[in-house]
Amino acid sequence: MSQIQSSEPAPLDKLRHSCAHVMAQAVQELFSGTKITIGPAIENGFYYDFDSPHRFSVDDLAKIEKRMLEIVKGNHEFKRFELTKEESRTYWAQRQEPYKVEILEGLEGPVVSHYTHDTFTDLCRGGHSENTRDIRHFKLLSVAGAYWRGDEKNSMLQRIYGTAWFSKAELDAYLTQLEEAKKRDHRKLGQELDLFSIQDEAGPGLIFWHPKGGLVRKIMEDWLRAELLRRGYHLVFTPHVMQLKLWETSGHTGFYAENMFSPIEIEKTKYQLKPMNCPGHILIYKSALRSYRELPLRLAELGTVYRYEKSGVVHGLLRVRGFTQDDAHIFCRPDQIESEAAACIDFAKAALKKFGFEKFKVELSTWDPLTPKNYAGAAQDWARAEGALVNTLNRLGIPFVRMVGEAAFYGPKIDVKLVDAIGRAWQLTTVQFDFNLPQRFGLEYVGADGQRQQPLMVHRALWGSIERFFGILIEHYAGAFPFWLAPVQMKILTINSELASYAQEAAHSLKERGLRVEVNDGADTLGAKIRNATLQKVPVLAVVGKREKEALSLALRLRGGQDLGAIKNSEIPAKLQELLGSDWN
Ligand SMILES: [Zn+2]
Ligand SMILES: [Zn+2]
Repeated sequence: MSQIQSSEPAPLDKLRHSCAHVMAQAVQELFSGTKITIGPAIENGFYYDFDSPHRFSVDDLAKIEKRMLEIVKGNHEFKRFELTKEESRTYWAQRQEPYKVEILEGLEGPVVSHYTHDTFTDLCRGGHSENTRDIRHFKLLSVAGAYWRGDEKNSMLQRIYGTAWFSKAELDAYLTQLEEAKKRDHRKLGQELDLFSIQDEAGPGLIFWHPKGGLVRKIMEDWLRAELLRRGYHLVFTPHVMQLKLWETSGHTGFYAENMFSPIEIEKTKYQLKPMNCPGHILIYKSALRSYRELPLRLAELGTVYRYEKSGVVHGLLRVRGFTQDDAHIFCRPDQIESEAAACIDFAKAALKKFGFEKFKVELSTWDPLTPKNYAGAAQDWARAEGALVNTLNRLGIPFVRMVGEAAFYGPKIDVKLVDAIGRAWQLTTVQFDFNLPQRFGLEYVGADGQRQQPLMVHRALWGSIERFFGILIEHYAGAFPFWLAPVQMKILTINSELASYAQEAAHSLKERGLRVEVNDGADTLGAKIRNATLQKVPVLAVVGKREKEALSLALRLRGGQDLGAIKNSEIPAKLQELLGSDWN
């Protein structure tokens, strides 16, 4: 059932939603007393939420799939029919489907559509495949709990997830990707590699960066800060709590309220934990009268923000309650829009490429010119900003998809999605125009003609959130960070305890030359030490035996298995630099 979509769904969504109907039929046949609720198509698949006396387990999925296969082979047509709301109410009440009756209450119009195939009927807007025979390549994936209408005050339902594709090849490729993703799960690797944790005692969605994860973060931040300075940004720091009235001026207490932590009261004044960095940067802009000659003014902050997410939806590093944005706000003149947008995109490409991402998808979200009342800013502002973004993308030769009506109410934006090592797309970079905040805060600059003008404002984040980007990086590299980013670049392993002091000396001299080196001079066998360092995905293993000690050398082996033999300690950095190329730093 899908009463929400207003436009015709894509063919693959129709297929997936049809598959959800077939699954619902199979489930109702196999598990009597099961009530149906909703079953939409989602990204890569579909689900259906059931209220059932039976507790579904993963073992039930094969049984349901088997029945589904029989149903689809029956070549049943999906037929649409309409009932008046009254008729539909009677129909669903007779069938003892209370959720359908409840859904019906919320629907507008005198008639409602239904879809039926074989013995199954659903209250549903469609669309659907023509025939069950179109559904051949599907798989049920998992079972999860879900509250009716996403509200924890409502009853807990059971959700069965599945996926469906046009061809077997696509289904197989997707299932392989899922398997691969499971192996790379950043929550699992984060624990195995001791990178970060989330602690029950502290609360959900709050990240603890352990020493090794913290080191990776420092390297990421160092790269970014150097690049920001090189590209003409100023680094700023702003408070984590600011008076609530500031968020009233910005409008966040209105349109953003449900994403914010509750205010804190101190000395009879309410303060707000910041969900965004924008107002802080605006106050810095406003701290002086700006001249047109100072623009563009680019203020950047690795700004930690706190947002309310339901405890049930937080997920590892990907969806959290506290995170640090690589945020910047650019205040500029209208004649600078194009060059600033181009510079942002160039920066984004550099920031993603450095971390091993070569493939991108770009989307341009524009307003819906038919409903100008829904947006802040004048039509000419929108036209100018959109024109500048389109010109920029065209000039850079970047293909993009235009998403009409997808812009935020305050301005058009460019989104960059990257494609990771196993083909998944992640939304990261956003370059967002804002016609709203400069007006709300009364921002000004003195133009060349001595007149006060309003600057344009651009919000931009490249990685988005450092936590989330780190999670994506862990999965992209499957925990095997390139040499320049690895928290431990080299592990020195001793063959026996007599070599411990030599190993420590060698490590010390390599550390002095900037390498991140650890020593394992414990009592384990060399085999065990190698296994352990391999599991830790250390890029370079260095074995020390008697011969290496005598020659003041280490026997090196790269993570990929390449044996470099014994190399004199003094020559190791140069040798690695030569071998590793762009992975060196
Ligand atoms: Zn349907
Ligand atoms: Zn912002």
